[in-house]
Amino acid sequence: MFDWLIVGAGFAGSVLAERLASLRGDRVMVIDRRPHIGGNAYDHRDAAGVMIHKYGPHIFHTNSRQVFEHLSRFTQWHPYEHRVLAEVRSPVTGQPMRVPVPINLDTVNRLYGLSLSESEVEDWMAARAEKVTEIRSSEDVVVSKVGRELYELFFRGYTRKQWALDPSELDKSVTARVPTRTNRDDRYFTDSFQAMPLQGYTRMFERMLAHPNITVQTGVDYREVRDSIPHRRLIWTGPVDEYFGFRHGKLPYRSLQFEHRTLEQERFLPTGTLNYPAEDVPYTRVSEYKHMTGQSHPFTSITYEYPSAEGDPYYPIPRPENQALYKKYEALADATPDVWFVGRLATYRYYNMDQIVGQALATFQRIDASLPPRAANDAVAARKLAAAGD
Ligand code: FAD
Ligand code: UDP
Repeated sequence: MFDWLIVGAGFAGSVLAERLASLRGDRVMVIDRRPHIGGNAYDHRDAAGVMIHKYGPHIFHTNSRQVFEHLSRFTQWHPYEHRVLAEVRSPVTGQPMRVPVPINLDTVNRLYGLSLSESEVEDWMAARAEKVTEIRSSEDVVVSKVGRELYELFFRGYTRKQWALDPSELDKSVTARVPTRTNRDDRYFTDSFQAMPLQGYTRMFERMLAHPNITVQTGVDYREVRDSIPHRRLIWTGPVDEYFGFRHGKLPYRSLQFEHRTLEQERFLPTGTLNYPAEDVPYTRVSEYKHMTGQSHPFTSITYEYPSAEGDPYYPIPRPENQALYKKYEALADATPDVWFVGRLATYRYYNMDQIVGQALATFQRIDASLPPRAANDAVAARKLAAAGD
C-alpha cells in the first residue's frame, strides 16, 4: 500500500514526492505517461551528444530564495542570463533587423536610427502611447506603453501565431510577462536568481526522486493503473478537466510542435533565442541550447517552435471565459477528498517552473498540517486490519 500515488513526474509531482518521502517518511509511487521523468523540463543529449530540451527551451529564473535553495539540494548551477533578439522589419528602411526584446533604449534607437537618451526615450514612448482607461487585454498592455507601431511589429503577429487569438482577446497577464524598458538592460529576465542546472534538469529530477521510499514508473497512464496500484491518497498534476472526464467540457490548452535540428557548426545564433514576430513566418522562435547550458561541442543544436492546436497541452489560455470554466473544475477539485491538484495543468495557471516549485512546497505544508504523521496512519491501518481479522 502506497501512501500516495502521484500522477506526473514534472516539477509539481517530483517536488512533492521528495518532500512527502523525506519529511514524513511516506511511501510514494510516481507515475508518468511519458517515457521519462522531468515533465516539460526534461532534457537529454541528442544523437550528436548536444544537450537539448525535448519540449523547448527551459530557462530557470526566480526571485524566490526559498525555491532556489530548495532546488540547490539536488543540483549545482551554471550561471546564465537569457538574452533574446527579434527579427523585424525596420519601420524606416523596411529592411529586416535583429533588435533586443524586451523593447529597450537600444531597440528604439536601432530601429529608427536615433540616438536618444534614457529620459528622451521615455518621452518618445509617452508621445506614442495610447490612452487606455482600463488595461484589460494583452493589446492594452502594450499600446498603452509604446504605441501601435511597436505593438504591431513585436506583439500582434507573434501573439496571434502563439495563441491563435488576437492580443485584444487575451488577458493582460500574457504580454505583461514581457516588460518595456527605457534603459539598455537587454536581459530577458531580471530575477535575482538566474541559472541552469549544471548537469541538466533530468539529472536534478533523478536526484530528487532517488529516495528509498519513492518508486517511479514511466510510460504508464493513470487510467491503466488506477485500480492496480493500491494507494491512500492521490496527487494529480495532469490536466484538471481530464481527471473529471471533461464533465463540464474541454478546457482549452495551446500546443506546440518542436522541430529539433543539429547543425555541423559551433554556433548558430548570437543569443539564446531569436524571435520571429512576423505572422508570415510559421514559427515563433528558434533557440540554441549551448548558450544556456555552456556546453562545448563542435556541433550545435537548435529548436524551432511551431504553435499548434493539436498535441500535448502546454499552455493554459488566459482569458475570462476559460477562467470561468476552470472555476467549475476547481469547485469539483475542492469537493474531492484525498486528491490534491497541483501544477500548471491541474490548476490551469500559466506558471513558470519556479512558481510551480513554490506551489508544490506550499501544498506540502498544507498536506503536512492537515494529515496525521505517518506513524499515526500506520497505527490506524493496523487497528483496522486487526479489527477486520477479528
Ligand atoms: P508538467 O511538466 O507538464 O508535468 C505534468 C506531467 O504529468 C507530464 O509529464 C505528463 O506526462 C504527466 N501526466 C499528465 N496526465 C497524466 C496521466 N493521465 N497519467 C500519467 N501521467 C500524466 N518555465 C520557466 O520557468 N522557464 C522557461 O523558460 C519555460 N519555458 C517553457 C517553454 C515551453 C515551450 C513550455 C511549454 C513551458 C515552459 N515553461 C518554462 C513552463 C514549465 O514547463 C512549467 O512551469 C513546468 O514544467 C510545469 O510543471 P508541472 O509539473 O506542473 O507540469
Ligand atoms: N510576445 C510577443 N512577442 C515577443 C515575445 C513575447 O508577442 O517577441 C508575447 C506572446 O503573446 C507570448 C507572450 O508575450 O506568448 C509571453 O512571452 P514569453 O516569452 O514569456 O512566452 P513563453 O516563454 O512562456 O512561451
